[in-house]
Amino acid sequence: MVLADPNLPGRQATPSEAAAPQPWNVQDSAELYGLERWGDPYFSINLRGHVSVQPRGERGGSLDLVELVEGLQGRNLNLPLLIRFDDILEDRLESLHAAFERAITRYGYSGRYQGVFPVKCNQQRHVVEELVSCGRRWHFGLEAGSKAELLIALSLIDDPEALLICNGYKDQRYIETAILARRLGRRPVVVIEQADEVQRIIDASKELGAAPLIGIRARLSSRSTGRWGSSVGEKAKFGLPVPEILSTVEALREAGLLEELRLLHFHVGSQINDIAVVKDALQEASRIYVELHKLGAPMGYLDVGGGLGIDYDGSRTATAASTNYSLQNYANDVVATVKEGCEPHGVTVPTLVSESGRAIASHFSVLVFNVLGTGGLPLDTPAIGDEEPLIVRNLRDTLEGIHTLASDGSADVSRLQEAWNDALKFKDDALAAFRLGYLSLTDRSRAEQLTWACARALVERLPSDSVLPDELQSLPAVLARTYYANLSIFRSAPDTWAIQQLFPLMPLHRLGERPTELGHFADLTCDSDGRLNRFIADGRSKPLLELHRLRPEEPYLIGMFLGGAYQEVMGNLHNLFGTTDAVHIRLAPGGEYQVDHVVRGDTNAEVLTAMEHNPEALLERLRVASEQSIRCNQLQIAEARRLMDHLESSLRQSTYLQS
Ligand SMILES: *Cc1c(COP(=O)(O)O)cnc(C)c1O
Repeated sequence: MVLADPNLPGRQATPSEAAAPQPWNVQDSAELYGLERWGDPYFSINLRGHVSVQPRGERGGSLDLVELVEGLQGRNLNLPLLIRFDDILEDRLESLHAAFERAITRYGYSGRYQGVFPVKCNQQRHVVEELVSCGRRWHFGLEAGSKAELLIALSLIDDPEALLICNGYKDQRYIETAILARRLGRRPVVVIEQADEVQRIIDASKELGAAPLIGIRARLSSRSTGRWGSSVGEKAKFGLPVPEILSTVEALREAGLLEELRLLHFHVGSQINDIAVVKDALQEASRIYVELHKLGAPMGYLDVGGGLGIDYDGSRTATAASTNYSLQNYANDVVATVKEGCEPHGVTVPTLVSESGRAIASHFSVLVFNVLGTGGLPLDTPAIGDEEPLIVRNLRDTLEGIHTLASDGSADVSRLQEAWNDALKFKDDALAAFRLGYLSLTDRSRAEQLTWACARALVERLPSDSVLPDELQSLPAVLARTYYANLSIFRSAPDTWAIQQLFPLMPLHRLGERPTELGHFADLTCDSDGRLNRFIADGRSKPLLELHRLRPEEPYLIGMFLGGAYQEVMGNLHNLFGTTDAVHIRLAPGGEYQVDHVVRGDTNAEVLTAMEHNPEALLERLRVASEQSIRCNQLQIAEARRLMDHLESSLRQSTYLQS
């Protein structure tokens, strides 16, 4: 709901408004944007009304995000800017391990937990390197789904105990690579996802006289819910149904490779919203694990895949943008269910492996962009002209009438509705009069502006606690403004477009100030889908976000949070907007920060080259064209030089707008 802005220009404050300046503080902002629900413990609001970051979670230390952005801009980094907090990445890794350690102690589980990071979630070199280096103390490994990812995993992991899970479609070369990597002292596990892979593994092992560690991906019959529900069940793309698991075991036995079958894997899909789905899958997988053991495979590892969800909207519900469980609930259920599945059958419990990507990588990166301007209906009251026609005067009277109504939420709904009906009637009259030639363009403009001024004054008076008639209910949306964002959602937040993913978005400053506008964001691309118009709301979504009115000459910075997983690599070059500048930040002793890595975004020359254009050749053609225009006296030499200067320097610059 939009609330009164006592500083609206072009309008006299009425006594009732002056008497009711509702106070607003940072706590109100924290509640409005749900910060404590999704941001804890990493994001909060400080007393200056800025978002602050606690990169080490509960272990202390914080950074003012606005000051940080200013400091980075001072280093010639541009908005939109992706800020990666490596401390958060480390803290997430620690939280995951701590949760499993607590669960293992609590249930007296006699095995261990040993996770891997699915590289596809964020393949950026600095990100994977950071995870490998922080994860060393737990022998944390990597999961690869393609040859290129396998190359990353093989070269970055040098811990002989860390697991290297090889998923995805595999040809002979992929399998041979994994076998040979075992000789390098790595621990790759080739997971059979398709029935025909077993023969390739057998062939490659014969050829090389050595075998890989082998895993089997089971196609569970338990159903999932949510977007990725189709990754499991009988129609899933990957995994072996039970009959194929059995024939694979027999094939391995015949080839003398059953000794190498060590791991059972399943993956229910990403962002599991409902813990009941996890439990069902775990029960079924534990049963299969026990049976594989009985069939004579040594086993040892149960890999529960990814799917550990993120509570994007903080509602703690089994809805798409949330989860009805915590990290600890998840770890408890994995540990307890596997124990219950194995111990009664006298089977030693396995080392538990998980491939959590989203849960590890979402929090650590924050995308900051600036707003270039706003658009929407003109809301200011127009100045009174000489001899205004009756229709316009009627609208002025209606507006004044609205101003006399209470603005503290106690106004009578039927009087508000009556005023709005009047305003709409006079507006229609004005349009009719204009069409018939009785109203000038200026007066028609006054009539329209007065109508929207009435709408705004009404919105300020809508009671929040009573049920409103539809016309009044939809007024705030009618008045909503478009905030033009210096970003491409196709590059930086593709899932908001592709799968209607919700990410928390909020201003980074002015949080001690009441946001008086409702708005949505339009991005820089020429695509009508290039918008952010779904925002988190308790378990649902809302089409408009509470924002502040822009101030002249003052930047308005917005943060998109929890986007560290999948967004970067899924992003594309729509309209040739390239990657943004990115930085890796670490908290330094003394409350300062250090910039560990700077990753420059694409320049215009780079995105052109990516599409096979030759930037130099493009420039040369324009130079020839400008020489021609100079000869025909259409262009001055100085102008031609200015044009070429602009073109040349933009080739070296970011694809986004300069602030
Ligand atoms: C994508 C994927 C993951 C990661 O899933 P998250 O939901 O991000 O944890 C893990 N394992 C496999 C096989 C995957 O395909």
